[in-house]
Amino acid sequence: MSETIDHDLELLQALGILCENEGLEVFDTRLAEMVAARRGAEMSNWDHRGMSEAVQKTAYSKDPRRKVGAYISGARNKPIAWGYNGLPRGIDDSPSRLQVRSAKLKLMAHAERNALDNAEQPVVGATLYCTQIPCAECAKSIVQRGISRVVCPEPDQQVSEYWRQDAAISMIQFAEAGVTLEWYEGPALDLLALRRRLYLMGADAPSLEQIAGGLMQLDEETFKRTLYQLTDTPPF
Ligand SMILES: [Zn+2]
Repeated sequence: MSETIDHDLELLQALGILCENEGLEVFDTRLAEMVAARRGAEMSNWDHRGMSEAVQKTAYSKDPRRKVGAYISGARNKPIAWGYNGLPRGIDDSPSRLQVRSAKLKLMAHAERNALDNAEQPVVGATLYCTQIPCAECAKSIVQRGISRVVCPEPDQQVSEYWRQDAAISMIQFAEAGVTLEWYEGPALDLLALRRRLYLMGADAPSLEQIAGGLMQLDEETFKRTLYQLTDTPPF
């Protein structure tokens, strides 16, 4: 058993991820099973549109490290609300404050929660699209507000142990409460990867419009190769 793994053994046992005599390595196997069970869902054009909306909302976030977007779509795919990770209205969100991680974590409202708070109509039965798996806190609100389906990209395998554990707790909540969780697969992931690449470049980054204008000039093969280079995503 690795001592570097920072799992909370008691918590995982209480949630039923681990039985009493199982080692921590079982956690990753269980998580992999939960992940595999949610692959391969059929994505509709509305899902591509919904995820694309969530990806576009990331641009509003002032978080220097991670920009997250969320979009809620109701019955018959009617737009209900959207959000991004940011400080509550009226709270000073100057860059100097956002650089202090402890202050940022305490003050930041997550994109999923902001989208729920922004909804001016009931969200019971709605679908929530978000650019990463909701954390365990947001998952509580998603369950309580009656969202019936969550669509997000599969959690990144490179994510820290802390967030892997948090993701597992979200998955447990969704499974027990009957909220469908589906991994998004489709072109909006390229847009997300591209936007993240641009965010890392900061002020020097070209605009998406400039990039799109340039890409439109390319033949199909060069277009795919360039998109691959921009996003680190294999051409599909
Ligand atoms: Zn959250």
